[in-house]
Amino acid sequence: MTFAATVQTQASTAIAAFAHYAQNHRVTPSRQCEELAIGRGRATVPYTNHGGNVTMLWMNVSPMMQQYLDAKAACGDALLLFRMGDFYELFYEDAKQAANAVGLTLTSRDKGTNPIPMAGFPHHQLEGYLAKLIRMGFRVAICEQVEDPQQAKGLVRREVTRVVTPGTLTDEELLDPKESNYLAAVVWSSRAVEEKPSGRRSRQGEPQVGIAWAELSTGRFFSATVPARQLGDELTRIAPAECLMAEGQPHGLPEIGKTITITRRPAWVFGRDNALPALLKHFQVANLEGFGFDDGDQLGLQAAAGVLDYLQETQKASLEHIDRLTPYRVGTCLEIDQATRRSLELTRTIRDGARTGSLVSVLDRTVTAMGSRLLVEWLNSPLTDPLAIGQRLDAVEELSADSQFREALRTPLRGIYDMERLLTRVATGRATPRDLSFIASTLRLLPAIQAILAGRSAGRLSELSQLLDSCEDLERALSEALCDECPLLAREGGIIRPGYHPPLDQLRELASGGKEWIARYQAAEADRTGITNLKIGYNKVFGYFIEITNAQRDRVPIEYTRKQTLKNAERYVTPELKEYEEKVLTADEQAHEIEYELFVQLRDQVQQAGKRLRQTAYALAELDVYAGLGDLALHRGYCRPQLGNHSDLKIVDGRHPVLDITEPDGTFVPNDTIANAESGYVLLITGPNMAGKSTYIRQVALISLMAQMGSFVPAREAHIGIADRIFARVGASDELSRGQSTFMVEMTETARILNTATQRSLVILDEIGRGTSTYDGVSLAWSIVEYLHDQIGCRTLFATHYHELTALQNSLTGVANLNVEVKEWNGKVVFLHKIVPGAADKSYGIHVAELAGVPESVNERAKQILIHLEHEHGGGARQVSRPRANHIVRRPTQYQLTLFDPMDHPLFDELRQLQIEHLPPVHALQLLQKWQEQLARDGEDRTCRQ
Ligand code: ADP
Repeated sequence: MTFAATVQTQASTAIAAFAHYAQNHRVTPSRQCEELAIGRGRATVPYTNHGGNVTMLWMNVSPMMQQYLDAKAACGDALLLFRMGDFYELFYEDAKQAANAVGLTLTSRDKGTNPIPMAGFPHHQLEGYLAKLIRMGFRVAICEQVEDPQQAKGLVRREVTRVVTPGTLTDEELLDPKESNYLAAVVWSSRAVEEKPSGRRSRQGEPQVGIAWAELSTGRFFSATVPARQLGDELTRIAPAECLMAEGQPHGLPEIGKTITITRRPAWVFGRDNALPALLKHFQVANLEGFGFDDGDQLGLQAAAGVLDYLQETQKASLEHIDRLTPYRVGTCLEIDQATRRSLELTRTIRDGARTGSLVSVLDRTVTAMGSRLLVEWLNSPLTDPLAIGQRLDAVEELSADSQFREALRTPLRGIYDMERLLTRVATGRATPRDLSFIASTLRLLPAIQAILAGRSAGRLSELSQLLDSCEDLERALSEALCDECPLLAREGGIIRPGYHPPLDQLRELASGGKEWIARYQAAEADRTGITNLKIGYNKVFGYFIEITNAQRDRVPIEYTRKQTLKNAERYVTPELKEYEEKVLTADEQAHEIEYELFVQLRDQVQQAGKRLRQTAYALAELDVYAGLGDLALHRGYCRPQLGNHSDLKIVDGRHPVLDITEPDGTFVPNDTIANAESGYVLLITGPNMAGKSTYIRQVALISLMAQMGSFVPAREAHIGIADRIFARVGASDELSRGQSTFMVEMTETARILNTATQRSLVILDEIGRGTSTYDGVSLAWSIVEYLHDQIGCRTLFATHYHELTALQNSLTGVANLNVEVKEWNGKVVFLHKIVPGAADKSYGIHVAELAGVPESVNERAKQILIHLEHEHGGGARQVSRPRANHIVRRPTQYQLTLFDPMDHPLFDELRQLQIEHLPPVHALQLLQKWQEQLARDGEDRTCRQ
């Protein structure tokens, strides 16, 4: 039974109310409502949905509660903070939820017949509670009193002034300066919806999704249409705080290792019919071709329309600062999938999810929040166009080579405020006076920055210098008007500099000079009347008065008017005192009013310059990134990579960018990497655990990625063929905590690599096949290397402890063996961390166990067993011939020492426990036959498994 149908059976007014609600708020009838209160006109209709049946409760409410219910109806499922005097209050289900979530005390209003659950907090605690609620994933609507209660006739007018949601934050307190905060929307093509996510199809005509993402606080807005299978990768890259999806749309979002608040929106918002007109209207353009969109971008645009609609609805403010939509094209950027991002620890470490220890923590030497965010963006989307990369590298080179230039640029940059976010607060009408003063002080620094950039040779530096617009008129207006220390509140004065606006100065003088005037007046009157103890006082009821003791009553002048009689004294007023009181009392208020008006004028002036300022902000961020990368390059001895459209790699003395810094100074051992047609594109790295295999292969991926984002790299020399994709499958231990079978995850990701890598990709594989039995593992590793070599031919670094694989070098021309050098000294091993040609001869597992502190007796026993087994099996690495194509991989020989195979077989237990002296001969024969059969069966099982 649908929601609407049930309501219909109850009462006609309710239908009217529901219909109104549905029409205005686009609620679909099947929506689940928990004590959703809606109200219109005379009737108030809270609904409760108990197990699918809608029960209607009728009640009479006060005008104020009616106002609350109206506001609640207008803000959907957001918690409503309803301003009542000095408090924000929540009612009904909202009160219960908030009380639970953030520990507010739950009380009730109208305690009599109709108690209403209620919870609240003082208005000055708004930021704190808002932050907590948003962090917990709530959407929060704020309903303010929009007229002065003193002036209001009857009920104070209230309106929902904004809806704050995790993806639409603009408040400084709620945002991390170093991280972007995106709101995303996803739209599936109808084909993708029909097929469900599991439906596999060929690449051609495969299901698509549209994704759009915007950062309200900076005005950035992007849209992309990508194959549905890439949704997880894109969402990982964007890492939105909130994602919009159509109601009734069956897909869920892929897991990306971050909590995303999902908000359902009416499906029509994302529809084709709505999307284009809505976007054209917002951007005030006739088509979107000017932004670089074409027919293939339909789904992305539909998602963008969803984002825009949501922002319009929640912000109830100008979105002028969102002035362009940028197409994001897969292919113009180096593709890095979700697993690779995690494995390479680009922005977070695998172990604890912290920024410290990730690549970005090393690269980020920016001095502004805007620069820091842009750097993360670049790291998340490195380039593939050698010219564009070259432009960035030129800028970094110039800034790294000339330290004086770099410092001269960074010094003013350090004084730059977060212009992007300040401008958004201006555009949405939420800027404080202090925000404007920050914009002014940023603008004051621009001429110096432009002067520093003059005559620089890197093309991009000159371009950026051109983009900087110091908006002198605006800067002058702000600097002249604003006080040095501007307040946060706009309505309490202290904003405008003395001397800027003479009428304001007069009012201020009046307001602050009140005390002096009164002292003077008191002295003059005492003198004139001869009443030496005459006193001027003030109280709220009578205002200013002259107090004269009863003893002096005879000397009171005729023009004094009596106002109040006390026990020992009388209180009077005079026309002068009354007049002055008027002026003093209103002067302060008037001064605040004038200051507010002047502030709004200035804010509007900033908004008018919004476009120029946003462009300036972007240029400052980019300059900051170059200066930071230049500084890093110089101080860590990085080199400029040479990039080209080829598939070769030559890195001389490469270092892992993070370990290079975290290992004690001078202890990190640099290594070379060569992959080309001559020496092979598949590098097989063997060596004991802890020798440095993972570090080595990761460093190659990280160096390539850094080069493509436009950074210098930790090496003496680096020639890098531009990759279209980087894949890294490194370490599986962390996956267990994500509730998936390690081996399944490993194989899923490997499958993905084999299905999507191209000849231009760079593939890093570490210990593939470890999650299963030795024979399975080595066979898989073997055939994966063959496939990468024969079918794809991409640059591959394959670290493995399966020494058997080293035999592949004999049969595959493009495979080169490398190993990590180890020295044995006084019975101990020393890891040299040096990568050298050739295969490793031993695995040194027992030595590693010793190093790790495994008890000596265990290690000694292990050594004995090893000697025994090596003797039994002939020892050393065994040779494996290359299996023929289409041939089941048979066990060519024993791949790995199978430590306890013979001893562990259940037959041995049976045999040990057999009491031969009591065994009749017939039984002995039967037992022998059973064992023989069992052994034969086991043998068959094993062959099948292989
Ligand atoms: P493996 O993958 O062979 O087990 P790792 O790459 O995890 O080994 O390296 C183990 C440890 O060895 C690292 O944590 C680091 O401390 C050290 N290490 C690795 N490579 C180097 C190097 N090139 N120079 C100095 N120390 C290194």
